[in-house]
Amino acid sequence: MNPEETKEFEQKIHAFVGRENGPPKKGKDAVNEPMIRQWAEVMGDESPVYTDKETAKNTTKGGIIAPPSMLQAWSMEGYPMAGSPAVDVQRSLHNVFDENGFTGVLGTNTSTEFFRDLKPGDEVTYHTVIESISEQKSTARGIGYFIETVTQFTDQNGERVGKQVFRVLKFIPADAPAEASSVADDSPAVPTRIAAPRGHDNGWWWEAADKGKVLIQRCKSCQTLRHPPRPMCGECQSVEWDSIESTLDGEIFSFTVLHYPKVPGYDYPLCCAVISLAEGTRIVANVVGIDTEEVKIGMKVKGKVEQVDEKTMLPQFYPVAGGQ
Ligand SMILES: [Zn+2]
Repeated sequence: MNPEETKEFEQKIHAFVGRENGPPKKGKDAVNEPMIRQWAEVMGDESPVYTDKETAKNTTKGGIIAPPSMLQAWSMEGYPMAGSPAVDVQRSLHNVFDENGFTGVLGTNTSTEFFRDLKPGDEVTYHTVIESISEQKSTARGIGYFIETVTQFTDQNGERVGKQVFRVLKFIPADAPAEASSVADDSPAVPTRIAAPRGHDNGWWWEAADKGKVLIQRCKSCQTLRHPPRPMCGECQSVEWDSIESTLDGEIFSFTVLHYPKVPGYDYPLCCAVISLAEGTRIVANVVGIDTEEVKIGMKVKGKVEQVDEKTMLPQFYPVAGGQ
């Protein structure tokens, strides 16, 4: 988009701010004991204040209450919510984004406040408003805008019982295919693999892979190695760790050969193996450079970090000549 188109687009989206996503709506069912009981069972929450009338009566609650986090359950529309898009303002807003290339959507955060306990018989009405749309932001996912909606929950007397803020990022996916006009010929672009999410706990591993190294996390307190990366040592619960570099000498512990379905970005048949590394941990990786019919459990392999598509570096394992 050029600056003028951006301005026009932003006028369009900002016109949605303050609009209600339809009129206030009443939940399909009043707060009721069967739904509370089922929810408590599914969640494994055995607090008697949700299910045991006699016990609940003698608590400070004075009787059965609904678990606070069920608030949204009283307002969900169920399967029919897929219908009536015409009255759904939020969907219209998302459509404006989609039409302008902001096809990605990511729920970034939500927060809920509870003002009072709900009891059987209470009737919940909810009302959602598009609260704000941010300025254009440059994020790791791509350029986009944060949309914040606020839902107010009230009871049969109009008293507020809760409030939920929900924020999503609508963005142009950073790995979106180039626009048709910029593609030189008619051949479709080579599809890339789905990039692994890189978070606080595993981003460092992928960054090392980008540099051609496979690291294995090591507990600083008891030296136990672990893979894949995770925040805490399973042996001693320490969260202090460092890492060692793997030699990528390994042995096939187990494997499978995929023929179908063919996920874009891979060559088939595809051998996926669990490999026991010389250091003692295991890693899941592809075995390449060999007819998949020849792959055997116990086979010695050697890994090499290679570029497997335009953006991804991954260890791939090759049979060691004569190393069965
Ligand atoms: Zn440890």
